[in-house]
Amino acid sequence: MKKMSLTQKIILGMVLGIAAGLIINYGGFNQKGGFVNEYIVEGLFNIVGQMFVTSLKMLVVPLVFFSLVTGVVGIGDIRQLGKVGLKSFVLYLLTTALAIALAITIAGLSHIGEGANLSTDAVFTAKEAPPLSSVLIDIIPSNIVNAMAEGKMLQIIFFSILFGVSILMVGKKAAPLVSGFEILNEVMMQMVNIIMAVSPYAVFALIAKAVSSLGLDLLVNLAGYVVVLVSALAIHLFVTLGGILKILTRLQIGIFFKKIREIQIFAFSTASSNATIPVTLRVVTEKLGVDNSVASFTIPFGATINMDGTAIMQGVATVFIANVYGVDLGIDGYLTVILMSVLASIGTAGVPGVGLVMLSMVFTQVGLPIEGIGLILGVDRLLDMIRTAVNVSGDAAVSVIVAKSEGKLNEEVYKDPDAASKEGEIEIDEKVEKELAEVVEKVHEKA
Ligand code: ASP
Repeated sequence: MKKMSLTQKIILGMVLGIAAGLIINYGGFNQKGGFVNEYIVEGLFNIVGQMFVTSLKMLVVPLVFFSLVTGVVGIGDIRQLGKVGLKSFVLYLLTTALAIALAITIAGLSHIGEGANLSTDAVFTAKEAPPLSSVLIDIIPSNIVNAMAEGKMLQIIFFSILFGVSILMVGKKAAPLVSGFEILNEVMMQMVNIIMAVSPYAVFALIAKAVSSLGLDLLVNLAGYVVVLVSALAIHLFVTLGGILKILTRLQIGIFFKKIREIQIFAFSTASSNATIPVTLRVVTEKLGVDNSVASFTIPFGATINMDGTAIMQGVATVFIANVYGVDLGIDGYLTVILMSVLASIGTAGVPGVGLVMLSMVFTQVGLPIEGIGLILGVDRLLDMIRTAVNVSGDAAVSVIVAKSEGKLNEEVYKDPDAASKEGEIEIDEKVEKELAEVVEKVHEKA
């Protein structure tokens, strides 16, 4: 029998996870205090899933730091660095704005929520949007250890770029440091590979747990909202992102969508763009052929500021709740929603559930009742998973576009269906192994 590739195993894990989750959910096995709930869902699935997500998170900060410093040194030219930064920033804002405009249009045309009689006792507390000034000031870390400890992505990016640029300015003397960073970057990538090797089981556990505890009955109540939202997400993914990618790069789009499946599954299982960074970075560089000098910047940057899927949720949710409460927002209101969503996505990190927090900022701004959010709270977990998959797809698409325009895309790798096919197999170089053994022996001799 042919050995399954890692991607195939991950997909199998997802499918089995959905099946197991549905059986537990529909079979009514997930009663609180029951055996299945206590030991399987909240026990086994929860432990395996959380251990995996935590290990991915563990890699994020060092991976971003080492690969970004290596990337900046790799670009070697500060002006070109600025170009990569500007292009990705503009593309990220553009795709997010298009996403939310599309969402408002589709939701508006489908009249969701009009005349609905929904009630809720779920409460949601609003958050004020941080003013633009503090978003800007917050890009600079006052203490890099603190920024790394808290995983503040924009601050880490800022520091890493400055660090890389300074290495370039020090020049020849810093050469050993450059190789050091390159090696560290490779080591981090190996750590990603090790963790990826167990990912099919983790994906199974994460998805089985999520599906078994989802309020599936609620989906029916909110069917209009869910259907419109999921359709808008699909249209954005395949038409908007696919279209922009095709027009700007002339590459074959089918390959792109096939190769990013793995990233989407991880985003779906973890509901966190941030936790998915190690996987995204690996797929974009090793399978899509984007040079590390571009990807090391665009991926962590995108995970933080680019949230097309989340923006779509905000557009659809705003129209839905405005209709439920019979509020007419008018053109002004909707323009504010677009602007607010784009701004809110810049300052907020890609972690589970943050979309709802952003939505509350939007609602406060346009004067919609915050209690409205309680209506969609019950189905948000599932929708969070789906929109996160769209968020990371946008990051990958923009990375390919920017890389292509900068001549930093290896098209051979992009086209190669087997690129990085040794994924997930942990191999230790024989020569290195021998050398290491010799070193160990010498140390023993000395001792
Ligand atoms: N979970 C999403 C992300 O990490 C953000 C959200 O929409 O809640 O990208």
